[in-house]
Amino acid sequence: TQTPVTVTVTGAGGQIGYALLFRIASGAMFGVHRPVRLKLLEIPTGLKSAEGAAMELQDCAFGALQSVEVTDDAAQGFDGTNLALLVGARPRGPGMERADLLTANGAIFGPQGQAINEGAADDVRVLVVGNPANTNALIASAHAPDVPAERFTAMTRLDHNRALAQLSLTLGVPAAAIDSVIIWGNHSASQVPDISHAMITAADGSRRRVTEALAEALGGSAKMEIWLAETFIPKVAKRGAEIIEVRGSSSAASAAAAAIDHVHDWFLGTGVGWTSAAVVSDGSYSVPRGLVSSFPVEGLDGSWVIRQGLEMAPAIRSRLEASVKELQEEREIVTSLGLL
Ligand code: NDP
Repeated sequence: TQTPVTVTVTGAGGQIGYALLFRIASGAMFGVHRPVRLKLLEIPTGLKSAEGAAMELQDCAFGALQSVEVTDDAAQGFDGTNLALLVGARPRGPGMERADLLTANGAIFGPQGQAINEGAADDVRVLVVGNPANTNALIASAHAPDVPAERFTAMTRLDHNRALAQLSLTLGVPAAAIDSVIIWGNHSASQVPDISHAMITAADGSRRRVTEALAEALGGSAKMEIWLAETFIPKVAKRGAEIIEVRGSSSAASAAAAAIDHVHDWFLGTGVGWTSAAVVSDGSYSVPRGLVSSFPVEGLDGSWVIRQGLEMAPAIRSRLEASVKELQEEREIVTSLGLL
């Protein structure tokens, strides 16, 4: 048997938590043969909900699930953890300014980073889902000086998967046949979905550029450029709001599925092409060092490697600059608030 992996989920009593826990326990993240120990961390008001989820997890009698623990104590919740999924966050309330939101979340992610620094396993990896995810990851990382910064990541995989879904619907090909889409920048409305390097693999194994297939489907490359700017990019960036409008509550299962995909590919490999994740910048593509920004990445054994040398169209470059500016402003705010 393989060594057990300890996974901590914060906000485990929430909507995403409820969609996420059962998939982790069923083996979707690490494979059905890897035993999983789950630790559910909540704030006191979320404890009952997390306890209920823990009871249901037991009732599933999953083969891979070794134990479930529920706590509202961060030290206990992160003790010995190999993977921390930071889902719980303070949502933006009515009239809340960006600085208020960053302050409220700094009060959550700072102490969590510290608890990870003190008690997590030496090989700990962190995925931040709670918004503003990129800057929350930056704050947590700053409070965990003994954990290498590249272990702190934020989720843009849902945006990536939403882009695949739109391409799949428009082109009439399975999403799984499309690879090498990119989400650049911040996980916010300023994110930059980029399909210029994306490829389709046909059933016979032949490969074709997505841009070529799109131009054909939409009646030429000029029409494709309009579709990209006016339909595709806003659709992907605003999909969360659309789900809320139609479903009556925010996307939860798709966010959980994206978290599963992020971790799966981080440890077990990306497959064809690359995927998207927000990782600490090493200066690649002129994104200032130290910002947590989304890049094209390839994963293996718990490391993300930023794919280098991809050409960027001027329009994509300037959209990325705007998104990076937003990340810099967020970093300036949290720095001035003493949260870094
Ligand atoms: P959800 O489980 O629906 O969402 C949790 C977080 O994920 C939010 O910050 C949300 O940001 C973010 N998120 C990221 N991507 C998405 C997406 N695509 N769709 C929806 N959300 C996304 O929230 P709930 O309110 O149901 O649950 C949150 C739980 O967290 C509560 O049980 C609360 O008690 C707990 N909590 C725990 C903390 C802790 O463990 N220390 C701290 C704070 C809260 P956005 O709001 O921008 O949508």
